[in-house]
Amino acid sequence: MKSIHALAAAGALLAMLALPACVQTAQTNPSNPTVKVTPLGGIDGEFCPQDRALVFEDPNGTRILYDPGRTVAGGGDPRLGTIDIILVSHMHGDHVGNARNKAPNSGSCASPDMSVSSMPNSNAVDIALAKKSKIVTGSEMPPFFAAKLKANGGNPADSMLARFGGSVTVGGVRIATVTAMHSNGVDPEYIGGELGKAMKDAGIAGDVGLATGYVLRFSNGLVAYLSGDTGITADQDRVVRDYYRAKLAVMNIGDGFSTGPAEAAYVMNDLVKPASVIASHANEVGTIAGKVRAGSKTEAFIKAAKMPVHVPLSGKTMAFDAGGVCTGGC
Ligand SMILES: [Zn+2]
Repeated sequence: MKSIHALAAAGALLAMLALPACVQTAQTNPSNPTVKVTPLGGIDGEFCPQDRALVFEDPNGTRILYDPGRTVAGGGDPRLGTIDIILVSHMHGDHVGNARNKAPNSGSCASPDMSVSSMPNSNAVDIALAKKSKIVTGSEMPPFFAAKLKANGGNPADSMLARFGGSVTVGGVRIATVTAMHSNGVDPEYIGGELGKAMKDAGIAGDVGLATGYVLRFSNGLVAYLSGDTGITADQDRVVRDYYRAKLAVMNIGDGFSTGPAEAAYVMNDLVKPASVIASHANEVGTIAGKVRAGSKTEAFIKAAKMPVHVPLSGKTMAFDAGGVCTGGC
């Protein structure tokens, strides 16, 4: 507790100097470089139904946007800043972004604004074009993104592959994909034309291979597991923990479509065993006035998990050291 109090005191002093939160952490403890994680959700300070997007900032400055979904207001969203890399776990509209907020904080937490269509490109591609980001995906998704970039004047080579078992290092961050037990159909609206219409009429989705999760190794040594949408898999034990040794996890708790709070807690407690976990993908209002809502899936997950659960409040930056311990903003 002593160190937390010391950090809080130092943070308060720096706040008086009007420095942003990310600078506070970096300056208060230069010997313990941290990865900053900033949720870009639907409403500032809350955890809302559509929230998936997280920005990870490596100590070296590389910035990675994970699953932009519908809460990032396109490439012009002023919260984005520089985005070097975009990760898309799978092709479902709430992850790649088939629609989006008009502007940050439009709509309400309970009734999210998804009024702007991102078809046929996707929010992820629109952001990549605006920010000249690399899109790093696994499975057979890279050719889909390469084609979308090319069709819109971007560089198809910016769509990069990291398939199961391999990895690619971009901006000093090593990126690997891992199993996610889920589905990965491409909405025919991305395909368009007569073929797209025929597929839509027949109720058939396009195929770009398996859904994925990610394991990231940052330059300070922190290894993070981003679950994507998944069920319980043996790989969470044998691959994510045994091989990659993830210390921070982002875990979906939404239920119905993927693990619910009880299954997610089992995955954390018995399989991945990270030092801390960020809840994600609640598909309901998780917080009210920044506090966990009583009776919510988020509350159930916090109670069931044996390690600290951090709630992704939109716009609130958290900092994690190499061991996966939150050292600021949690
Ligand atoms: Zn999904």
